[in-house]
Amino acid sequence: MSAMETENLAPSEAHYFQSYNHHGIHEEMLKDEVRTNSYKNAIYQNKHLFKDKIVLDVGCGTSILSMFAAKAGAKHVYAVDMSTIIEKAREIVHVNGMDDKITLIQGKLEDIVLPVDKVDIIISEWMGYFLLYESMLDTVLLARDRYLAPGGLIFPDKSHIYVAAIEDGEYKDEKIGFWNNVYGFDFTPLQKVALSEPLVDTVEYKAVVTEPCLAYSIDLYTVTKEQLAYHVPFNLTVRRNDFVHALISWFDIEFTACHKTISFSTGPHAKYTHWKQTVFYLKETLTVECGEEIKGTISSKPTVRNPRDLDVKIEYELVTEDRGRKAAGTCEYVMC
Ligand code: SAH
Repeated sequence: MSAMETENLAPSEAHYFQSYNHHGIHEEMLKDEVRTNSYKNAIYQNKHLFKDKIVLDVGCGTSILSMFAAKAGAKHVYAVDMSTIIEKAREIVHVNGMDDKITLIQGKLEDIVLPVDKVDIIISEWMGYFLLYESMLDTVLLARDRYLAPGGLIFPDKSHIYVAAIEDGEYKDEKIGFWNNVYGFDFTPLQKVALSEPLVDTVEYKAVVTEPCLAYSIDLYTVTKEQLAYHVPFNLTVRRNDFVHALISWFDIEFTACHKTISFSTGPHAKYTHWKQTVFYLKETLTVECGEEIKGTISSKPTVRNPRDLDVKIEYELVTEDRGRKAAGTCEYVMC
């Protein structure tokens, strides 16, 4: 982006949009086949919904979703993106012969004025790590409130956040235990920082020690910006005798407007996606027995400093008859 375009943005916002200027990040998203094929199937299998409709693509990037919609028969697609990748999107749309179907508009969705009052369908890929980190869902909700015609559709429209507990002794020792003794020195001040940063990484399914628990669901038709800060209970049933080093979280996405709902999961049981899973190490290790429960609450809210970052808090308690293994605690994290 030119200095002109970014000068009105807060530094963190300029940095956010600049990260989408380069094709590398778009390559990663396009190559995520679970992600991209889900959108493709949701759109191509529902041509009856797209035929002759006006579509808004919020954060079009390389314009892939806009082209899916145009090919599915949309009357016109308005594709908005703040990043300079939109210049390439314009060329891509041109070489694919879709200039008359797709109008690309560079700018922040919040600031631009669409050439139409209302749209029939909003498509957007807005999900971040842990669903809401660096997420642009606020922008999609604003687009919904400003532009979606009554009875209009949102693709996707539902999201569910899950929590589970894992055994991760070896890796926790590598990442957290490491700071106990670094070439003979006590580096524990860095251990506190390491513990407070959730880790985005792939978790092997066999490391999952409990049943998953649905912690929070989002309906894009009705959710408000305020509800994206949440504080919800969870209850994890232990599946086997083991140790617990961390809680993990992932999300599922649904396109329920489809004739037959299309969905995908970013969980440890599902095929790899670039969102991986998010790992929250606990300070202590829990010794758990099959049938016991780990109950608690998880809360997430935008940080005061930067609304794209998240303050996350986990309170937990191991419910057990065994007094020797009773455990409870509170852990706070910052995702930035
Ligand atoms: N739709 C594309 C890109 C998704 S990444 C695909 O599926 O491959 C999200 C894109 O949204 C980025 O290119 C980013 O620049 C853009 N974006 C995020 N917030 C925005 C906003 N408020 N206004 C305009 N574009 C935005």
